[in-house]
Amino acid sequence: MSKKIIITIDGYSSCGKSTLARQLADALGYVYVDSGAMYRAITLYFLRHHVDWTKDAEVKKALARINIEFLYRPEKGVSEIYLNGENVEYIIRDLVVAEKVSEISALREVREFAVEQQRKIGKEKGIVMDGRDIGTVVFPDAELKIFMTADNAVRVERRFKELYQQNPNITIEEVKNNLEMRDYIDTHRPVSPLRKAPDALVLDNTHISCEEQFNIALKWAKERIKN
Ligand code: C5P
Repeated sequence: MSKKIIITIDGYSSCGKSTLARQLADALGYVYVDSGAMYRAITLYFLRHHVDWTKDAEVKKALARINIEFLYRPEKGVSEIYLNGENVEYIIRDLVVAEKVSEISALREVREFAVEQQRKIGKEKGIVMDGRDIGTVVFPDAELKIFMTADNAVRVERRFKELYQQNPNITIEEVKNNLEMRDYIDTHRPVSPLRKAPDALVLDNTHISCEEQFNIALKWAKERIKN
């Protein structure tokens, strides 16, 4: 049996990290973990329960009531995220959540809570996890680290197309503002800011197709698995 490794994919919002992570996990028989979904689920909980996240004690109390699981849906062939037993895979993609998620995920307690679970999931290796701090903080010893980028205009266009299918009232301006705001907060927060790990390989997909990007990353993964 071949060696199992950890693959991390970090980068700005809407660079196509989850698409690539899913493809790699499928090809290698690995588990795909969407760490952003965890921060989105926590945000959904905070919004629904009117948690005042400027108060440490309230944040701690709320986190103690949150249970997050990824459950495999055999009929779809994918894992989906559950918040206290409820499937929230789709509702967490809403712009209402996207507007607050970066603010909430900048909180130290929230990050500690999520990172602890992410490390548990990765203990057996054989995973592809995407996010913002996976190669720098969660798995600094990962065998393969990928840092994805793409031009802003391309990212906005892609995200708009995705969100428009669920909400035809959404405007390109709203999507653009949200991406810019999230990137700004994610790169400027004091705790685990979004950074390229020094040993990460950069994948800029502005001008390459999904298939080309997948072939490049799969080659990298196979090299690391062999060594
Ligand atoms: O990946 P996605 O865009 O769904 O992530 C939503 C938000 O969660 C990001 O904008 C970022 O603020 C936060 N996040 C994070 N660390 C991660 C993954 C996501 O701070 N590892």
